[in-house]
Amino acid sequence: MRHTLFIILFALSSCSNQKPQEDSSHQSKEMDNTSNIEYALVIHGGAGTILKENLTDEYEQKYLLALEFALKTGEDILKRGGTSLEAVQASINTMEDSPLFNAGKGAVFTNAGTNEMDASIMEGENMEAGAVGGVGNIRNPINAAIAVMNNSEHVMLTGKGAEQFAKEQNLELVDPSYFHTQRRWESLQKVKAKDIGSVEEFKEYKYGTVGAVALDKFGNIVAGTSTGGMTNKKWNRIGDSPIIGAGTYANNKTCGVSCTGHGEYFIRYAVAHDISAAMEYKGMTVAEAGDYVINKKLLDAKGSGGAIVLDRFGNVAMPFNSKGMYRGFVKSNGEKEVKIFRD
Ligand code: ASP
Repeated sequence: MRHTLFIILFALSSCSNQKPQEDSSHQSKEMDNTSNIEYALVIHGGAGTILKENLTDEYEQKYLLALEFALKTGEDILKRGGTSLEAVQASINTMEDSPLFNAGKGAVFTNAGTNEMDASIMEGENMEAGAVGGVGNIRNPINAAIAVMNNSEHVMLTGKGAEQFAKEQNLELVDPSYFHTQRRWESLQKVKAKDIGSVEEFKEYKYGTVGAVALDKFGNIVAGTSTGGMTNKKWNRIGDSPIIGAGTYANNKTCGVSCTGHGEYFIRYAVAHDISAAMEYKGMTVAEAGDYVINKKLLDAKGSGGAIVLDRFGNVAMPFNSKGMYRGFVKSNGEKEVKIFRD
């Protein structure tokens, strides 16, 4: 009897030990790589049919320089002890101000020939979030998303109301003509001529949404995304980028995520949250979770695009199932990468 009791007690104690053991081995696996990381920043400038043969050397150089600049701007802030919110905002602002990316200045055109932008931000420390959708006169939509998070009791504002809020917040407003670029105008004419509608045709269309995820010296993760959406969009269509859990997500317990791709799929598959959930519920690493959601679940559903993922130990993943993704990261230990094509 005493012997049986001993066996039961032993079995119970080893059962109750099992989970923490699994957890700690998973964590140390992550921490071993990057235990000395004080801060990290990962960015994307959109995923799509980005092939070497489709990009002139001149444009390739322009994109690489713009990505380097966005990384350096954010890193300077993190290095001197700034917050991940400040770094994400500054980094995204540089890409919003560049005509190269489909966000801010370089936003794509709607079917009606206007520009309607979406953006969102989330803080992993406290699960605070803010977003704007369908705005047409705010120079840096990510700043409006941050103002919604910090200065309103709401999470998402859209259209005229969001523009009115931005005005009251003294954010920089511009005439809608500021967003007119010849390159995007020509894309609209091309897309209209082909009347892009099917998924296959959509895949051929180049994206350019921007996003950033940062980890600061305080251990906080922030993720942000900003976009002009989809060329030729109609009926005030809004994609995944301003939707928390679809295009953007952050949780200090797991990771920060910013997505880019065919928004309708990212909304229905709650991609950004799904990556975080795979880490939380399945104990996956950033690399495993990103790969599982982007290259398995989303790909099986025929959804095209990618994501950037960063955890609190500074582990980075940049999975995509399209031909290419403008992307890069930098860490406090000097590790750095900037890439466009698959390799
Ligand atoms: N996800 C964006 C949207 O569907 C587009 C993109 O990432 O390029 O609005």
